[in-house]
Amino acid sequence: MNRARRRHLTLPLIAAMATVVNCGILAPAWAQDFPSKPVRLIVPFAAGGTTDIIARLLSTGMGAALGQSVIVDNKGGAGGALGTQELVRQPADGHTLGMATVSTTASGPAINKKVGYDPLTDFTPIINIAATPNVIAVHPSFPAKDYRTFLQVLKSNPGKYSFASSGNASIVHMQMELYKSLTGTFITHIPYRGSGPALNDTVAGQVPIVFDNLPSALPFIKSGQLVAIVIAAPKRLPQLPDIPTFKEVGLEPVNRMAYYGIVGPKGLPKTVVDKVAAAVRKTAELPDVRKRIEETGSQLILNTPTEFAAQIRAELDVYRRVVETQKITLE
Ligand code: GLU
Repeated sequence: MNRARRRHLTLPLIAAMATVVNCGILAPAWAQDFPSKPVRLIVPFAAGGTTDIIARLLSTGMGAALGQSVIVDNKGGAGGALGTQELVRQPADGHTLGMATVSTTASGPAINKKVGYDPLTDFTPIINIAATPNVIAVHPSFPAKDYRTFLQVLKSNPGKYSFASSGNASIVHMQMELYKSLTGTFITHIPYRGSGPALNDTVAGQVPIVFDNLPSALPFIKSGQLVAIVIAAPKRLPQLPDIPTFKEVGLEPVNRMAYYGIVGPKGLPKTVVDKVAAAVRKTAELPDVRKRIEETGSQLILNTPTEFAAQIRAELDVYRRVVETQKITLE
């Protein structure tokens, strides 16, 4: 057989084998031994935010289940895009995984043309862990302690106030833009590398308003350092019985939860996906871990990779529609 003809036959064969490996039908031999070294879990937001809280709640138990340490690595910036770009550039061997949130998989890619990855093709979805409520909270010096007064203050002072968020194009930025457009108010956006620093500056009185995910904001609300105004959750929470949902105040489109899952770079073998998913599931179902997630008003999801992939697609569609219909831009 001449060389050209042999190449003609081998290339499709290699491509077919790669497809089989990627689909997980035939896992490469090394995948059986995964993990063979510590696993890096990229958190694409600063320490102290909900993504970081959930990653750290799970990392020790995941490490025990996998037989290798799971090391949380915070790479915040650009609403989660920086850390996520780093994740998708890593080898698909399971030793680098990333926290994926509604911001990095849906709201960011829907609005940020420079997000640098495609959430539908650049990840291997592994498991969605939990959905969390979101909250608008204010510094105690803000001249409103309830939703009605909050809205009145904003309406009579357009442009006077600013709000802190976990980053440009993050869910809380996007939801505040939606809020502004639905209520005809104007508040200036101040993006941070994650909710951790956004909360710090709001608690310190540098910024009067914060839009955050509840797990990170709740301790400050409980201690009186922040005052909760309105939440995004299916119904009122026992933790904040006096705080209305966006739906109750007539703003159902803003009443959307955030979510926190784990993805790998595209092409992770199924054996690796299954091992990581089993480790997360086992850890999240430990009574004390479950309790710590649920006591923030969050709900455990723990779904399959196929379900998580479908959720990412559906949520991306939701935020693309919001961007289009409300004409929201990053400026
Ligand atoms: N708001 C971000 C999200 O839900 C998370 C912010 C953070 O963890 O700092 O995607």
